[in-house]
This record gives sequence, C-alpha cells and structure tokens, in this order.
Amino acid sequence: MRTLSPEFRGYSWAPSTEDIARLAELDPVEVLRFDGNVAAAPLPSSRPGTIAGALARVHTYPHGGYVDLVPAIARYAGVDPECVVLGAGADDLILLTARAFAGPGDRVAINEEPTYPLFAISAWLAGAEVGDEDPVLTFTCRPNNPSGALGALPDARPLAVDEAYFEYSGAGAVDLLDDDVIVIRTFSKAFGLAGARIGYALARPDVARELNARQSPAPVSTLSAALAVAALEAPPDVRPVLEERERLASCLRALDLEPLTSQANFLFVPLEDAHGVSDRLLRQGIAVRPFENGIRVSILDEADDDVLVQALARVLDRPSPVAAAGGRRARHVRATSETRIRVRLTLDGAGRVRVATGAGLYDHLLEQLAFHAGFDLLLEGVGDLETGPHHTAEDAALALGEALDRALGDRRGIARFGDAVTPMDDALARAAVDLGGRAAAEISVERDPGLARHMLASLGRTARLAIHVEATGRDEHHVAEAAFKAVGRALRAAVRLESVGIPSTKGRL
Ligand code: PMP
Repeated sequence: MRTLSPEFRGYSWAPSTEDIARLAELDPVEVLRFDGNVAAAPLPSSRPGTIAGALARVHTYPHGGYVDLVPAIARYAGVDPECVVLGAGADDLILLTARAFAGPGDRVAINEEPTYPLFAISAWLAGAEVGDEDPVLTFTCRPNNPSGALGALPDARPLAVDEAYFEYSGAGAVDLLDDDVIVIRTFSKAFGLAGARIGYALARPDVARELNARQSPAPVSTLSAALAVAALEAPPDVRPVLEERERLASCLRALDLEPLTSQANFLFVPLEDAHGVSDRLLRQGIAVRPFENGIRVSILDEADDDVLVQALARVLDRPSPVAAAGGRRARHVRATSETRIRVRLTLDGAGRVRVATGAGLYDHLLEQLAFHAGFDLLLEGVGDLETGPHHTAEDAALALGEALDRALGDRRGIARFGDAVTPMDDALARAAVDLGGRAAAEISVERDPGLARHMLASLGRTARLAIHVEATGRDEHHVAEAAFKAVGRALRAAVRLESVGIPSTKGRL
C-alpha cells in the first residue's frame, strides 16, 4: 500500500448502542444518543412502502442514472440538474472532492479547527498534506461542527463548503457555484436518512461533470434514492428542533453551563473535564460527543433532552432545573413490514399525550385512553395507510400494550384490578381490567367505527391483561370513545401503586 502522511488517522466511531447498553445495564432501546447530530426520528416518508418499487427492481442497476432524484435535488437547491453530484453521504463527496483536487505534494487547507475530522482524513487519503500554504483546495464547514457557529465564508478558492447542517441555519453558499465554490450537503441530518448513506454536492456544471466522471459509477443505492425522493416531496419543518435547541440551551445555562450559540441541531457545551463527564454519562446510558474542552450534544426532544439535563446535573453535582422524570417508564419500538411505531410511556404521568400515526380516529382513541389513564405517552409512527388503517391502528395498540407491559416490570405493588363506567352523550361504556398477567378479552362495542374492539383486544394481548368492555349507544364515534376512556380510567386504577408485594395469592404474576 502507498504510504500516507504520518499524520494520518482513520475515522474513529463512538461506542455502539449495544456496548453502551451493556455498560449501563439497560435495554438498548433505553440508550439515548446525543452524539450523532441526527434527527430524533425518521421522517414519515421513510417507510417500507416508499422503497417497495425500488425493492421490486433491486436485482438491476440504476440504468440511466437517478432520473427522479437529481432533478428533485436541483429543484430543492435552486440549481440546474447539471450541477448535482450524488454520493453515499456527504462523507463520500468530501472524499471525492479531495481526491479530485489534491494529490501527493499538495496541501489542503482547513478553514478552522476544531472542525469535521473527515476534511483532514480526505486530504491524507488523497496523498496530500493538511496546511495553509498555497492550498489546492480549502474546506470549510457551515454551520461548523462542533461549535454550531455560522462563520464568515473564507475568500480562498477553490472552496468546498460542507453544509451538512444547512437546513437548520437556512444560510448557504449555493449562489457562489460560479465562483469556484462546491457545496456539499446530506440527507443524514434534517431529512433523517443517516443510515441510508446519501448526500450530494452542488458545483458549476463543468466541475460537477468532472466530479461525476471521477465518482464511482452508481454511488447511491436505488433504495436510498427512493427514500431521498420521498423525503424531498415533503421537506421537514425544522422549527421545532430550533425551539427545542433554545429551550435546552436555557436549561444548560440554568446548570451554570455556557453552551455556544448554535445554528445547527446540536450545542457545544464548554467543560473542563469533558471526557470524564462523557464517561460518567455513558455509564447512565447517555452518549454525548466529548472534545478536549467540552461536549457536543444533539437536540432530540423535550423529554429526552430533559433526561440529559438531569443526568448532567447528577454528574456535575448541581441542582437540576428540570423535574426528575417519574419512575415507571418504558421506551419501545415496534417495526414490522407494515408499520414502524415508536413509543415512550410514563405510567405516573400527567396526561401529556401525543399519538401520531396518521390513523385518524384511532390515534384520537388511543390519546383518550392514555390521557384518562394518567399516562404520559408519545406514540409516533407510520404504517401502510394506503391499505386502510387496519395495520397501523392494530400495531399502535400492540406497541402500546408492549410498552405498558415493559413499564409495569414485575408488576410488584400495583393495585392490579381497575374498573370504570363512562358516559359520552348517548353512549355508555363499562370497563374492567386485571393486570394479573393473563391475557383475555371480552369486548362488546355495540357500534364500532371499525377497529375499536380489535384495538382493545390487541392492547390486552400484548399488555397481558384481562379486559372486559361493554359499550352501547347510537353514535359509533361516541361508543368507541366512551369505551377507550373507560379502559383508560380502569387502567389508571389498576396500575396504581398501593403495596410493596405481588398482588396475587400465588406470589407471582
Ligand atoms: N459533514 C459534517 C459537518 C458532519 O457533521 C457529518 C456527520 N457527522 C457529515 C458531513 C457526514 O454526513 P453523511 O452522513 O452524509 O456522510
């Protein structure tokens, strides 16, 4: 093999989720990763149906190129399709750009440090050195990783601008393609496709032509291309991430920390013993990215970010500005060929519920159930709604049942039984549940909008509960809603902690 610069070090990955889970003695689903700067969840468009067509043709090459994707990227970026170069993630395009411009004896400049390590790696892999003297290419990262700052654009040319976090800042250099600027972007961050490995570069048509000629012949899988096309049809709204970033920053300030101003989906938090803090967080199942003088944390959502704030407060031995999350909780992911559902459940909650699978009425019914049970519930997901709501609603109920079973643990101390009667206008429902661990369902819903009975039975099956429901009335919506509320109220009573023992004369459930 050819020798590279003595400075050369390959890219090093953070520990795997499974390793962290072992270290923290947690189930891998409970591990929280704040170290990857990726989206908290996939976009709704990332589902099996999106890749079904590409999968049916997966035995063939993408003959004729990426005829849907390239124009879609060009439209999104506001350039001509001749300006687009595809790659397996921004990383692939950083490597391509470096080897197209630099070789042995050349120097590649890196605008600021610390920054994304792949710029240096790409220069070394091309046989070049990193240095500011007479560079053949300059890399800059905007917003910069790890600071999150949107620095001034350097005057150096040719200039490769890594805009991996473009969507969060909204400010880019695409207007400068004619001025020897190459823009590199990705679907890994705002578009939630990091695992699909897909990105693109934008360059002047002659530069793009040459980069394409030097790129591998079909650099992107047809499956990833289909996911990217679908993602571009409904680009994500990043505003909630930006709002959450500012909320998290103020929590960190309340911890006497001073996060840097960020234009991206992460915050850099200066700290003295960054590696020590990171190690201690890791032992609690929380991964952050340590640097010499601070940690970088990705923005997830309020509940997950609060877990980070509490853990940091513990590690730094300072009072937490956010309340400790209540005890009985579970995270769960249920993924089948038809649906993908993510659940976060707290039994001793405050009725903060959000159910979003797109299954309309059935989302509403699960929200009613969780709210009246007093749970905090986030249940998000997507399913093959084009076949009707059946799979999605059923899997949402199954996933909630699985999360409930998990959150109940060994069921020690619970009341076990619960019952309720709830009217709703013309409708009346009676429900009784037994959390004794034996699944049974006796459910009568006089007028069923379709899946109400089936969902309650599904929930009972995976939560291992006996569930009896009788609901009558004239309006099917009211009948179903009364039934779900009654089950919620019954569950509220049954999950209540009232002793220390196992609520069975058998001594186990
Ligand atoms: N550029 C920057 C600045 C990044 O932070 C990352 C992700 N770590 C990448 C590029 C890599 O992106 P991709 O997943 O598209 O290879």
